[in-house]
Amino acid sequence: MIQLHDKFFKPFLSEKEIQQAVKGIADRIAADYADETPIFVGVLNGSFMFVSDFLKAYPHPCEVSFVKLSSYQGLTSTGIVETLLDLPENIEGRSVIILEDIIDTGRTLQELVHLFTNTNVKEFKIASLFYKSEIYNGEYTIDYFGLEIPDRFIVGYGLDYKELGRNLKEIYQLNQKHMINLVLFGKPGAGKGTQAEFLKDKYNLKHISTGDVFRYNIKNGTELGTLAKSYIDKGDLVPDEVTIKMLESEVDKNPDADGFIFDGFPRTAAQAEALDNFLESKDMNVNATIALEANDEVLIARLLERGKISGRTDDQDVDKIRNRFDEYNTKTAPLKEYYEEQHKFHSVNGIGSIAEITERLTKVIEQF
Ligand code: 5GP
Repeated sequence: MIQLHDKFFKPFLSEKEIQQAVKGIADRIAADYADETPIFVGVLNGSFMFVSDFLKAYPHPCEVSFVKLSSYQGLTSTGIVETLLDLPENIEGRSVIILEDIIDTGRTLQELVHLFTNTNVKEFKIASLFYKSEIYNGEYTIDYFGLEIPDRFIVGYGLDYKELGRNLKEIYQLNQKHMINLVLFGKPGAGKGTQAEFLKDKYNLKHISTGDVFRYNIKNGTELGTLAKSYIDKGDLVPDEVTIKMLESEVDKNPDADGFIFDGFPRTAAQAEALDNFLESKDMNVNATIALEANDEVLIARLLERGKISGRTDDQDVDKIRNRFDEYNTKTAPLKEYYEEQHKFHSVNGIGSIAEITERLTKVIEQF
């Protein structure tokens, strides 16, 4: 395990595995370009090590040049791509092969392709040492790649985290195991929102309230929001895959968070399993499920009070409140079982002052 700034990284690819991947690309390109002298264009800064090893493994005559773009800030793409070092001049009529260290969303690539429009090159190919095929959503084919890798943030062999790690000979991946991922349950009125707010600040977590995420996506007409709405409008339940995709995009939007509080999802054992699978694909997991428990009569009193202030009609009618409690009991029972089997279920007494309840939650979290 190594530390760069505030983050920990664990080994992912050895020097040998990287060199094999580099040689694989060099061999394939060499087979295609034995009869001409291509120009390789490395994309700085990340590709400098790759370009160097690649050229040593490339057996035929070739030229090399560099361009420099900038798009990543910390762990996430800012979406801003600037040209800092421009194209070589002698490329007209030549075969150009871009050498990229890694292709992620494809945004940088798009900018590169744009740079080469109107240059009258004979041919334009793209080679990348690493390729995150799951999240690439560009329209250009990646002609050559060394290794397909899952959606992990990696460093080393030219790749950095806030400028550190470029000099490592191996590739390391961000270690997610120190993350705190919580699932929060509680009947209406149990104080989930209040406590989530506190935990979020204390542990640098991102609170993902599924209801809010749905409303946001639908309101902003995102692709997933529109899809979800098409089910809702027909009176159907939104399929779990769609909800998971929304959560996934929330997780992806917050790579700097030290963990997530899932609130409002899962609601069924099948969803809990889907959440586990999704987190596992990101090398993450649920650390704990916390149910904020309180006696129904106490909650009813709280909700009626809240209803008076907010004007929410469903908080003012005792029968409606009891219905929501029944629904909660029926739905969470199998979930509780699911998480109990994994020894991840924690029940926290939700009666007391806000500070007292926070203290109880903190005790559970500080166990791991
Ligand atoms: P894209 O524009 O395809 O989203 O991102 C490409 C650029 O983002 C790469 O050239 C690289 O600078 C940076 N990048 C993408 N994924 C990673 C990663 O896992 N680790 C590091 N260090 N940089 C990355």
